[in-house]
Amino acid sequence: MTQEDAPAHAPIRAHNPLPAQDLRIGHGYDLHRLEPAPPAGKGRPLIVGGIRLEFDRGPVAHSDGDVLLHAVTDALLGAIAGPDIGQLFPDTDPAHAGEDSSRYVAEALRLVHEAGYAPVSLDATVVLERPRLGPSKQAVRENLARLLAMPVDRVNVKGKTHEGVDAVGEGRAIEAHCVVLLARASGA
Ligand SMILES: [Zn+2]
Repeated sequence: MTQEDAPAHAPIRAHNPLPAQDLRIGHGYDLHRLEPAPPAGKGRPLIVGGIRLEFDRGPVAHSDGDVLLHAVTDALLGAIAGPDIGQLFPDTDPAHAGEDSSRYVAEALRLVHEAGYAPVSLDATVVLERPRLGPSKQAVRENLARLLAMPVDRVNVKGKTHEGVDAVGEGRAIEAHCVVLLARASGA
């Protein structure tokens, strides 16, 4: 039967003939308030994706406040239906004060591997009014690829402003969104 002859509401296929691929998708989101650096405020140095950005404001956080690495961590954990970042690394635990967030990514990746998966694609968006992410974007991509043991061409990072509106647009906060695709690791 040609496409024209098929009833409008007939399902194209009753059964998907493609071999089922064992894929998982995860989404992560994070936001931190930005405050002036000490002594005027409580802002930490601004670190995004493990890369230091020069700015006179920084995140208020228990850890180092790396908004992108927190979103990446939650995306990895979400893809394996694991605990979230706050459950794994409570911000009430003095052991995590000022902690390098790449350790969170490393632990999430360990759990992903333990579950039998490996990340195959990652796309992230950082929303901040200032400074511009553009000049640091490639360094952030390369650092994420290194942390996740992925080829750089499977890791993407975009920077956006919030068009001057709301807390992010007024420079009072920074946000990150991340999606990650996992595939069953060979031999798992
Ligand atoms: Zn965070």
